[in-house]
Amino acid sequence: MRLHWHRTDLRPSDNLALTTGDDPILPVYVFDPRVLTHAAPPRVAFVRDSLATLREWYRARESDLLIVRGEAPTELARLADEYDADTVSWAQAYSGLGRRRDDRVADRLAADGVDHRVVHDHLHHEPGSITTNQGEPYAVYSYFWKKWRDREKASSVAAPGADRLADPGVETPIPTLADLDFDDPEATIPPGGYETARHRLNEFCSGPIYDYESTRDRPAADATSRLSPHLAHGTVGIRTVNDRVVRARENAPDEEAREAVETFRGELAWREFYHHVLYFNPEVVTENYRDYEHDIEWRADAAELQAWKDGETGYPIVDAGMRQLRAEAYMHNRVRMIVASFLTKDLLIDWREGYDWFRQKLVDHNPANNNGGWQWAASTGTDAQPYFRIFNPMTQGERHDPDAAYIREYVPELRGVDPDLIHDWHELSPTQRHRTAPDYPAPIVDHSERREAALAMFERARGEADD
Ligand SMILES: Cc1cc2nc3c(=O)[nH]c(=O)nc-3n(C[C@H](O)[C@H](O)[C@H](O)COP(=O)(O)OP(=O)(O)OC[C@H]3O[C@@H](n4cnc5c(N)ncnc54)[C@H](O)[C@@H]3O)c2cc1C
Repeated sequence: MRLHWHRTDLRPSDNLALTTGDDPILPVYVFDPRVLTHAAPPRVAFVRDSLATLREWYRARESDLLIVRGEAPTELARLADEYDADTVSWAQAYSGLGRRRDDRVADRLAADGVDHRVVHDHLHHEPGSITTNQGEPYAVYSYFWKKWRDREKASSVAAPGADRLADPGVETPIPTLADLDFDDPEATIPPGGYETARHRLNEFCSGPIYDYESTRDRPAADATSRLSPHLAHGTVGIRTVNDRVVRARENAPDEEAREAVETFRGELAWREFYHHVLYFNPEVVTENYRDYEHDIEWRADAAELQAWKDGETGYPIVDAGMRQLRAEAYMHNRVRMIVASFLTKDLLIDWREGYDWFRQKLVDHNPANNNGGWQWAASTGTDAQPYFRIFNPMTQGERHDPDAAYIREYVPELRGVDPDLIHDWHELSPTQRHRTAPDYPAPIVDHSERREAALAMFERARGEADD
């Protein structure tokens, strides 16, 4: 008998650990308080939803998902003993925290004479398998991408047959958010579960993927896959995604559509790139990836940070993004880049504040992508935005949301306002602003001044500032 410990692989099919070997499998999920201290209501809500569908799948096959609460090493050792399991399997973790926890579990099991099996499941290509010719992990995405793109990809695998699944003989409830000491999420959380993920993948690959190249930077178009919570929590397997995407490429109506599919694959490669970065540099969750000669003198300004979190900065595209985050536990990628640039280069506030807010609010948070995105925007990361390239939030808004449809959706104070006035909001006089949208704030900072301040801050950190 083997226990399979589900973590970020909340699906029955295309789950390599469930299909390897021929031993009977008893599936388990552990709500571990040490892990839950890093969790937040949106993700716990999504996980609960996904566990319910996964449990139904097992129950339909006369098995069941055992759901327990407690520290993973203790709980898994207890269950191994209770069910006389000789092995516990799980999918590879990538963060330092996850790997240290898994080491503790492995040690605890070994002390009881129980084996463990770690299966590579979450990525196409594991850390260490795509390296420079000198065997070093890539620090530049474009080189990584070329190897990633051309490397053969494994196909998805079927779910295990019912004959492989054991019955625990007890029914264990899914704890509520309150049981786990979480408040209800502020946002409306998208439905979880492997069926929803499969449906979303098919929907996206049946049409929108062919316009991805031209629409992916348009937040109002809602034209991206929205697979991020599913990829983060493993309600869809990466091989399943790739199989479907490759099929879409084969069926592409023309070269432009084929290229759009390739651009989408490029995003999947960014995901793997950042997982590799995190695996080899676990300290990046709290430290800059890139060394500057001196510390970056981030500002600590609680009022400006709060205005950013509340979507009250007076920069419409920034506020729309921050309000989308609070309302949906999600934000469009282009807007994530804009709000991250605004926090670090306009407010000059440490990227760690932004990372932590996203960690609390995003349903798709995972340390690899969240950290990669923040350190990219802050010019502290691997292959990051150069420090002197600073987004202008007004021109970004105008370029990517020209008719202000996205802004007006999330910022009701601007709903009846002409897009030109919205994009010129920073240039309007106080009287014009009052006449146009009396409830919407004036810009809390002057972008041009803050841009100069940001350049000076980075030049000092680089040891280039005049004395
Ligand atoms: C500051 C910042 C923080 C971010 N935090 C996260 C996070 O916590 N979790 C997360 O999954 N993504 C994060 N991203 C990346 C990206 O914004 C989201 O993956 C994307 O918006 C999710 O929407 P989608 O599934 O519709 O994306 P699509 O455009 O449909 O992309 C498909 C998939 O590719 C991956 N992907 C896309 N863009 C990126 C990227 N830039 N880097 C890495 N992987 C990518 C995701 O898994 C995504 O689901 C962050 C980006 C920034 C700039």
